[in-house]
Amino acid sequence: MILKVENLEASYGYLKILHGINLEVKIGDLVAIVGPNGSGKSTTIKTIFGLIKPDNGRVIFKDKSITNKKPYEIVRYGIAYVPQGRIVFQTMTVEENLEMGAYTVKDNRIVKQRINEIYNFFPILKEKRHQRATFLSGGQQQMLSIGRALMLKPELILMDEPSLGLAPKTMLEIFEKIKDINKKGVTVILVEQNAHMALKICNKAYVL
Ligand code: ADP
Ligand code: MG
Repeated sequence: MILKVENLEASYGYLKILHGINLEVKIGDLVAIVGPNGSGKSTTIKTIFGLIKPDNGRVIFKDKSITNKKPYEIVRYGIAYVPQGRIVFQTMTVEENLEMGAYTVKDNRIVKQRINEIYNFFPILKEKRHQRATFLSGGQQQMLSIGRALMLKPELILMDEPSLGLAPKTMLEIFEKIKDINKKGVTVILVEQNAHMALKICNKAYVL
């Protein structure tokens, strides 16, 4: 088991959103969490990543509790997070965005090497390396957002609705890439409103 979530509860103010979530994720899994808009998918993933403090429950990563840890600490355990809405640094170039993803890596040669790996994986990002992120298409921004998360070579990646607002063809491309990332050995938790596609590529699913 790489991640275990036990009885997780979370609220916004007095409004309880998560009423005891339980998840079990094995190494190498591609787990989908599906559910309608407003069902608490983003809240679940944010609570796992430490962006929201749980009221109750535990998050266990490889037998260690990461409950109540801060995102910057959780990143060091080998967990990466791709937020909903393909948030990238709009005024920075593609390459600068990728460099930002490796902020904990001090050796510049390693950073360069990892950027090249991302360019091999997403060739379009290499082509656009010196362009500001704001000039990228939605699909390209999503690739950049995923690429940035991959810069720290995570063991587990949490993705929040990577297909949201993309054209069908681009969406398929992104789902193919998510499968490839998983095949390379990265465990994936994929939160999706697009249940049809998510259920197609996952090996296990939870419905909220
Ligand atoms: P999903 O990702 O499945 O669409 P969310 O986890 O974003 O759902 O939201 C779950 C519920 O929490 C929704 O009812 C939403 O309105 C509410 N919610 C989300 N974010 C906030 C917030 N920052 N403050 C108050 N309520 C929120
Ligand atoms: Mg959401």
